[in-house]
Amino acid sequence: MPELPEVEIVARGLASRLAGRRIVAVDLFKLGGYGGLDAREVRARLVGRRVNAVRRAGKRLVVALDGPEDLVFHFKLWGVLLWRITAVEPDRLTALVWRLDGGATLEFRELQLSTLDFVARDATVAVATDPLTMPATSITAALNGRGAVRALLSDQDRFPGLGNLYALEILFRAGVDPRRKGTDLSDRERGAIADLIRKTMREAIRRGGYPPFLDLDGKAGTFPLRVYDRGGQPCAVCGAPIMTARIAGRPGFWCARCQPEPAAKGR
Ligand SMILES: [Zn+2]
Repeated sequence: MPELPEVEIVARGLASRLAGRRIVAVDLFKLGGYGGLDAREVRARLVGRRVNAVRRAGKRLVVALDGPEDLVFHFKLWGVLLWRITAVEPDRLTALVWRLDGGATLEFRELQLSTLDFVARDATVAVATDPLTMPATSITAALNGRGAVRALLSDQDRFPGLGNLYALEILFRAGVDPRRKGTDLSDRERGAIADLIRKTMREAIRRGGYPPFLDLDGKAGTFPLRVYDRGGQPCAVCGAPIMTARIAGRPGFWCARCQPEPAAKGR
C-alpha cells in the first residue's frame, strides 16, 4: 500500500517529466477504477490535454490538466506507474497507457487496486498539512490524542499521507509500543516520534520507498522494513521475535523488547 514516500517519489518524477507535455493518445486495456466512466469518456477527458503540473496531496497524486478538470490518482492498495521513452509492449498487468508528445509513454499498471478520478478544477484537492513540513509543535499536539499511537499516526486528518506501514516503522525506531495511547506518551516520546516522522519519510524517499514498490523507471525501493509484516521473525536489533496483533482494526507489528510497555521499562 503506497504511502507518503512512494507517492512523493512518483509526484517528483512526474513533475519533471510530464509537466508541459500533451497527451496525444490514450490506450485503455482494463476498465474499472475510473470513477464509473467508460472508455470513451476517459479518452475524451484526457486526449489533447496538456499537463500543467503534478503534485502530491496526502497519499493522492494530483495531475493538473489544461482543461476544466484535474486528474486525481490514488494508489490505494497497489499500482505501478512506468515512464518509457519507447512504445509500451502491453502485458496482462497493463491497464492504461498515455502516449505523449515527444514520443514518451506513461504506463499505469495493476490499476484494479487503485482509483483514478476526474475532479473539477474548482474542487481543490488539498490537505491542511503535510508530515514532511509540519512543525514539531503541530506533530506533538496531533500525537496527544486518545487513540492508540499507531492509529493516530495513520489518521489522514492528523498526518495526511502516513499509513500503517510507516507508522509501525516509525514507532519501532522511536522504541514506543504501538498500542499505547497518545495521551499516555511522555513529552520526550512525542518529541522523538516527531523527529522520526520527518527523518523516516526523508530516508524512505531517498531509498525509493519500500520493496517491492517500483519507481517510474521500474527500480525497486530499498527502505528496510524492520517490523512490518515480520511477525514471528527475529528483531533485527535484539533478536526477540516480532509480535503481531490487530491494533485499532489493522495488523500491528512491534518488538516487545525494543518497544517495551512503560511498566516494564527500567526493570
Ligand atoms: Zn528488538
